[in-house]
Amino acid sequence: MLSPLFAQLDTIIDHQREMQIAFLQRLVQTRSANPYTPERSDPADPIEYEVAHLIHAELERIGLSPEFQGVSPQRPNVIARLPGRESRRALILNGHMDTVMPSPFWTNDPFAGEITEGRLYGLGALDMKASLSLFVFAARALVEAGVRLRGDLILTFVVDEEPGACSPFGSSYLLDHGLTASAAIVAEPMNQNVTIGHRGGYRFKLTVRGEAAHTGLTAWERREQGKNGITDMARVITALQDLAIPYQETPAFLGRRPVFTFPTLIQGGTSINTVPDECTAYGDVRLLPGADAEMVEQLIRTRLAALDDLDYTLEKLLFVPAVEIAPDEPIAQILARHTAEITGQPPTLLGCGPWNDGWMFITRGIPAICGFGPNGAGVHSPDEYVELDSLIETTRLFVRGIVEYLEPDEPDPAIQP
Ligand SMILES: [Zn+2]
Repeated sequence: MLSPLFAQLDTIIDHQREMQIAFLQRLVQTRSANPYTPERSDPADPIEYEVAHLIHAELERIGLSPEFQGVSPQRPNVIARLPGRESRRALILNGHMDTVMPSPFWTNDPFAGEITEGRLYGLGALDMKASLSLFVFAARALVEAGVRLRGDLILTFVVDEEPGACSPFGSSYLLDHGLTASAAIVAEPMNQNVTIGHRGGYRFKLTVRGEAAHTGLTAWERREQGKNGITDMARVITALQDLAIPYQETPAFLGRRPVFTFPTLIQGGTSINTVPDECTAYGDVRLLPGADAEMVEQLIRTRLAALDDLDYTLEKLLFVPAVEIAPDEPIAQILARHTAEITGQPPTLLGCGPWNDGWMFITRGIPAICGFGPNGAGVHSPDEYVELDSLIETTRLFVRGIVEYLEPDEPDPAIQP
């Protein structure tokens, strides 16, 4: 049977439905498309500025005291607390405010926030402005119901996630400046699946050097001058084809394996009659627990050591570790139980492919759900949408999860009449 508190909270969430949807629509209409790559992200470019201010104002309106905290005034993270009575447990809700750039293939305006047949369409509607609206309105429902919790609820709205979930400006910045808790939910859209980890990634640049020579030279004809950087790269490509990356079989990634792809991009040569002096190629590795950047680099170097007369450099462009939490972590179990109860569908408890800010929490010892949000489709593609009934249902789910994890405060017997 539904507890009177959950029944009361459900009613409030249903009543605030139109307000929440209108707020989500404004979030979508307020642009925060992030054009950067991790190396180039600019702390002075106000990508999320307007979205951050919109959220800050809404949090103030519902009675919280939000703060801006970030690397610069142009790229503020927003953080707000619903303080509990004890500090035994605290729960962070985390979501990024930036979106990818709009694809040219949208059939409607990606910034209109148009609603048709129970779906709200727009860039970032699902990834992850729906979740941001959910944080605000979950907190609002708790405030309106007058629920006091034992632990702190901490809402975090962060910048600069889309370039590769490795930015020092967003979640990392907050965690490096005092943010901590006993659990976190990174509410990436995972269609109500309780995501207990994410794969890692390693990206690299490999440059092979040869020696330039005009192809008409006698010295090239006699192989006294010139070395073809592209044919040397061909040897490298062949040598690396079946590179096996070590991994551990873990509960979050049953049946999965690491994926090594090389090359994904390649450049070389200067003209049709010149022996190419250099060739550069890029590679992408999807990691599971059990391997890190140093290990992959060592494997590459060992393979290439077998090739004679090869002059190359290997450069790390990005590394994010694969992470996971135990399926029996309290926050995972609580979300799974309420999801099964509300939807009638027991959720999967698995790791996901694309990485996100989850690793920033888990590597700092904070067990984090790496994805849990409303249903929808079209993430990072045209015509992205969130299902509005699911948005409201997921708001109910979050509220129940928050209440159970942080525990409603019981009246202090000392002050009983
Ligand atoms: Zn996302």
